[in-house]
Amino acid sequence: MAFNILIVDDSPVMRKVIRRTINLSGIEVGDVIEAGNGREGLEEVEQQWIDLILTDINMPEMNGIDFIEALKTDEVMKSIPIIVISTEGRDTVVQEALSLGAADYITKPFQPEEIGQDILKILGYDIDE
Ligand SMILES: [Mg+2]
Repeated sequence: MAFNILIVDDSPVMRKVIRRTINLSGIEVGDVIEAGNGREGLEEVEQQWIDLILTDINMPEMNGIDFIEALKTDEVMKSIPIIVISTEGRDTVVQEALSLGAADYITKPFQPEEIGQDILKILGYDIDE
């Protein structure tokens, strides 16, 4: 089974870094879709099946917190796991994202292995220690 993954970040460079990390993680990747902010992210989620969302917090138009809230209040979209990957590390923001239903919160700069392991865990892969 291949997983469709949505990357939401306003930095094209960061989207590329995350895409590369996903490709190296050992996950069977289907489509990797990119969006530049939460609003664009919602449009993508409405158009195709997404298995996992990786989102930034600080973005124009719709930030990551509002994006997570919109997803988690939708009957269908709320089941999609969300991992936050952001330079925003303030405790209040981290707690808000997690309490809204984000599965995990990774602060940049990150270790590629960290994201890979996290994705595998959330998608239900067995990870050899
Ligand atoms: Mg940003």
